Parts: sequence; structure tokens; C-alpha cells
Amino acid sequence: MTKQVHSKVVREAALQRLIDRGVNVEDIAEIVFLMQSPYHPNLTMEPCIASVNAVLEKREIQHAILVGVELDMLAEKGLLSEPIQSIIAQDEGLFGCDETLALGSVFTFGSIAVTTFGHLDKQKVGVIKRLDTKSSGQVHTFLDDLVASIASNASSRMAHRLRDEQEAQLDAQEGNEADGEQQAG
Ligand code: MG
Repeated sequence: MTKQVHSKVVREAALQRLIDRGVNVEDIAEIVFLMQSPYHPNLTMEPCIASVNAVLEKREIQHAILVGVELDMLAEKGLLSEPIQSIIAQDEGLFGCDETLALGSVFTFGSIAVTTFGHLDKQKVGVIKRLDTKSSGQVHTFLDDLVASIASNASSRMAHRLRDEQEAQLDAQEGNEADGEQQAG
């Protein structure tokens, strides 16, 4: 029987691949901040970074990163066969498998993730914009969509968590007020 690949190996490879391709956690967290700060005026970068890190713990995201970035790198070196070599290297507009791979992980994080992904796909915010400009000679056909997917998932996850925290605080406050009334009465 062939040996199973350990989760730790997959996780480390996926994170390293992002860094090798010029994307760090803060870059993605910045997009999360931009997407969610209109709804949370006191938002800081800290929960955005935490949320991106949590999303990167998901095995399906790690696998998507490994597949997508591998194809980007092979296309960059001209190692794929035609016609897919040209299609990926030129980031051909009607290709769509880059979005499909990235979209696969978006559904598990709910509707905020899906709508944010659609927005980022059109608007190219932050590091996605840098990846999308083909001036560097690098191929980022898959990576830009993967980053959009991670940022969308992290946005959705954080939005739900912030609401939970807010409600927990309100519950605690109401509890305290009720206690106070009881004590006063
Ligand atoms: Mg793309």
C-alpha cells in the first residue's frame, strides 16, 4: 500500500506555495478588511488575519492551492502541452476552470462567501489586482481566483463570528442588567 500524505505536509506545502508566489496572509487579510469594514466600523486587521489563517487550515482549500498554483507554475515554464499551455499562459477569458476550482470551496462558507467571490472576480481588489496584471511575466491564472476564494471565505466566516460575539456581549449585558434589577429590588 502506498503511504498516505500527512496533512501537515499538505498544509505546509500550500502555505509555502502562496509565499513563493508572492502572496502572504496579510495581503489576503487586507481584502477581508476592505470587504467587511463597511459593515463593522470598528474593525481591525487582527480578526481578518485570524480568519484567513483559519480558512487556510481547511484541507480542501490547501488542495485547491496546490493544484492551481502547480498549473500556473508549469504554464509559466512552458511545460504543459498545447493547447492548454497557451490557454493558461494567456489567461484566456473564456477558460473558467480557474474560477471553478476556486469556487468549489466557496459554497461551504455560505452566501456571503459566494457574493463576495463574485464581487472580487469582477473588481480585482488589493493583491488580486497585482496578480491580474500580466506585466511581471509570471502566470497567475489560478492564483488570483484562489486568493479571491480565500478572502471571500474568510470574510464570510468573520462576519458570522462578529455577529456571534456581538450577540454574546448583548446577552451578557442584559444578564448583568437583570441581575442589577434583582439586586436593587
Ligand atoms: Mg483567473
